[in-house]
Amino acid sequence: MPNTTDFYINGQWVAPQAGTPFDVINPSTEEVCATISLGGQADVDAAVAAARTAFESYAYTSKQERLALLNRVLEVYQARSDDMAEAISTEMGAPIDMARSSQAPAGSWHINNFIRALEEFEFERPLGKHAPNDRIIYEGVGVVGMITPWNWPMNQVTLKVIPALATGCTMVLKPSEIAPLSSLIFAQILDEAGVPAGVFNLVNGDGAGVGSMMTSHPGIDAISFTGSTRAGIAISRNAAETLKPVHLELGGKGANIVFADADEKAVKRGALHCFNNTGQSCNAPTRMLVERSYYDEAVEIAAATAEKCTVGLASEPGRHIGPVVSAAQYDKIQGLIETGIEEGARLVAGGPGRPEGFNRGYFVRPTVFADVNNDMTIAREEIFGPVLSIIPFADEAEALKIANDTEYGLTNYVQTQDGARRNRLARHLRSGMVEMNGQSRGAGSPFGGMKKSGNGREGGVWGLEDFCEVKAVSGWSPDDA
Ligand code: NAD
Repeated sequence: MPNTTDFYINGQWVAPQAGTPFDVINPSTEEVCATISLGGQADVDAAVAAARTAFESYAYTSKQERLALLNRVLEVYQARSDDMAEAISTEMGAPIDMARSSQAPAGSWHINNFIRALEEFEFERPLGKHAPNDRIIYEGVGVVGMITPWNWPMNQVTLKVIPALATGCTMVLKPSEIAPLSSLIFAQILDEAGVPAGVFNLVNGDGAGVGSMMTSHPGIDAISFTGSTRAGIAISRNAAETLKPVHLELGGKGANIVFADADEKAVKRGALHCFNNTGQSCNAPTRMLVERSYYDEAVEIAAATAEKCTVGLASEPGRHIGPVVSAAQYDKIQGLIETGIEEGARLVAGGPGRPEGFNRGYFVRPTVFADVNNDMTIAREEIFGPVLSIIPFADEAEALKIANDTEYGLTNYVQTQDGARRNRLARHLRSGMVEMNGQSRGAGSPFGGMKKSGNGREGGVWGLEDFCEVKAVSGWSPDDA
């Protein structure tokens, strides 16, 4: 781990010019586990200047050079995977086994997938046979400002940094101030892999400070943001003055539509998916919609699944879930559980307060509400904790109506043996992703949302295109290089 108060600018670890100390809290113990610096304008300016200078040469590197670089990044990332898992587990509370099996490997998964997508990617393409002297050139958008959240830190950082490296962009990353340690290790990895000075820069800070300075900065050409819808709106406003494109990956309130003919594991799988990462995933299936004839049984299975879901310290090995990330998240989740009770939802598992045996740490009881109505606050707001809402439906038309009746549109889920019904729903659900019968989307599939879940697509070919400008050229000489 580098000195945690430093920033990585122009290929060097440097002390902040305008830093304010900020404590990183271990959510299992509520104790300080590191101190970082929140940067200021001078730090952002230095990082942007380095990225601007580096863009002059890095933009014109060849695809083969960038492929070789990404392969080196992958090698070093894999060699540091234990350090990465430790850092993520400590900063955001993922249990260590889960950090080793899911959180840290999410990074290598994306690096691998982008290498595959880049191998196939054509940066110069003909317009068509009718226009032999036209070329369409895809080129890196320039200096990208990247702002990431704490819930899947390396998943989100690699979904931005790797396609930027692949397309010839240079960048400034501001990771979440709540979970910045994994990104400090990531900067070391890029340094060791030989990323040229100035191509990748890291400045720590909060949203109001470094985040806002980046989104309004005239030297930054595009913003790639993952986080809350609230911040996404603020960022879009702030970026408007400089007219930079803003790619947004925001919140979700996914419906999981379970028909009576669903496979027998569907309800348990859906509940566990909701509780995974302690409910802190934007694509969590938090509204379980169940066909009436199967409803009572489904409520029982979901409640039993929650009762069996154990909670424990992030540092302990095992398949339990950890704490939520912060005191603020803990308080927000507790408030929403209380609201669910007040608004008349039927609590069938979990509930307010910490699980038995805990008097410190941001631990939440895996909670299931039945008889939820889609107008209730717990069905409308993203809770970002291990809280499942179960809503009954009469038929396919009603299920579709409830599923689409939300401000969000990230991932929806369908469970039925009826293939025609699955395809119909996949076409009509208003979300960037639809996952059916427990089958995960394939490698290189685009991740992103509709409506208030955002506008970008990350991963695979779409993830590369999001970091490119498209240039139309006429008078091209097809016989020359
Ligand atoms: P957040 O929006 O509070 O913070 C995310 C990042 O934005 C942090 O780095 C923060 O410092 C920064 N930020 C906050 N306000 C800002 C501002 N005004 N200007 C610039 N930067 C600002 O979100 P969070 O609490 O860290 O993360 C949880 C949220 O992220 C959830 O809503 C979740 O659904 C969403 N999320 C979405 C995806 C996706 O791909 N769609 C993935 C993961 C998380």
